[in-house]
Amino acid sequence: MIRKKKSTTAVTSGGTQVVLPNLNFKPQVGDKQQQQGLLIACRGMEQYPASVMLAAQAFKARADQILMDFSQQGVAVRFRVDGMWENMPPMDRVTGDGVLVIYKRLCGMNPTDRRSRQSGRVVVTYKGDDWFFDIMSQGVPTGERVVIRIEPKKPVLKALSDLGMREKMQEQLRALLNTESGLFLFSGPASHGLPTTWRVGLESADRFVRDFHSIEDEQLGDPELINIAKHTYNSSAGETAMDVLKSLLLKQPDVLIFPDFVDAEIVKLICEEIIEESRYSISRIVAGSAIEAWIRLIATYRGSAKELVKCTCGVINQRLIRRLCTDCRQPFQPSPQLLKKLGIPAGRVQTLYQPVIPPPPDQRVDANGKPIEIEICVKCEGRGYYGRAAIFELLIINDDIRKAVLNKPSPENVLPVARQHGFLTMQEEGVLAVATGLTSLQELQRVLSPKKS
Ligand SMILES: [Zn+2]
Repeated sequence: MIRKKKSTTAVTSGGTQVVLPNLNFKPQVGDKQQQQGLLIACRGMEQYPASVMLAAQAFKARADQILMDFSQQGVAVRFRVDGMWENMPPMDRVTGDGVLVIYKRLCGMNPTDRRSRQSGRVVVTYKGDDWFFDIMSQGVPTGERVVIRIEPKKPVLKALSDLGMREKMQEQLRALLNTESGLFLFSGPASHGLPTTWRVGLESADRFVRDFHSIEDEQLGDPELINIAKHTYNSSAGETAMDVLKSLLLKQPDVLIFPDFVDAEIVKLICEEIIEESRYSISRIVAGSAIEAWIRLIATYRGSAKELVKCTCGVINQRLIRRLCTDCRQPFQPSPQLLKKLGIPAGRVQTLYQPVIPPPPDQRVDANGKPIEIEICVKCEGRGYYGRAAIFELLIINDDIRKAVLNKPSPENVLPVARQHGFLTMQEEGVLAVATGLTSLQELQRVLSPKKS
């Protein structure tokens, strides 16, 4: 007999039966027995159903962050979905306080301390998958602020194509990463998925033919990467990256990875190793464009500017954009003027797509004020977008581009030369993503417009 899988849990809350979604907390603190005791204690609390419901709602909405703002009036709740904050129904203080006590206890944090900055982690199982709930709480003038970051325990994005990189660029990037000697830079603005591209990019390099070593501060806490030997040093205990690098160099490594170049001495030695010993190095930097990243690196380590220019073979930069929901995106025929503005040759693209975003519930009425039924897309729940992808610009550096940057290290000077050699800017790459229906023009404009404060 096939028994139907139990998908819900019924609990009694305030005298009424509440059916809870199948979601389990797995505390990481203490031994098995302590963890069991902790779970029993939390389940016994009146607000336990609310703590499960909040987490389940976040999963259902595909949120990667939950924000709870505790003030005298109540608890404001927001979810971050595909990088956009959405307001959720607020909680009253009794419920919100109870939920927070449960979360804090599950993470081994002190529930009675509402002032100090605290952080902790609990694993949450939802629909068979394990997720990390990283909770950070901090007292603020109006009360307390809590941020919960939700991350899959097993990385979901594995290949460059998963990130949205077009095929030709994947080939170019792999070729650059597999060059025998040189320096490659990963770059992107803050909170635009740079750590993910860093991980997936490094894992797409050929780590079976050459040996890869990364050198990083213990406190950085970067995740382990497959087939890359990680060497850490503890800067607060007086250990230095240089000590680690010098002992590593005795073993003749092929590829040296620095999530952060640390200082000028390291950069000088790395340049020497690349030029004289044909080694390869990879680093990353926060910057708004590929050219900006390269110029920033050169300006930061001025003493090795010439060597850095000589060594660098490529720089990649990225932005995250929301993917149009493929179930409800609406095709339209772009006018010749629009195509011209976008730089798309006439006849190349027949159809572009735009999101369908229904009006808010209070505006769903006809001309006479009579409520009308509007069908809301089941997949994206009326957001018009579902998930995110990255758009990339890849600067492949040759001697002409090197000459331009040595002549005058400014984007205005380097960009025209790079373009002559086939470099496409983020804007142009974005237009390609629009032309293929991956995203909309509105979204591209939102992402590329200068940051509003
Ligand atoms: Zn949709």
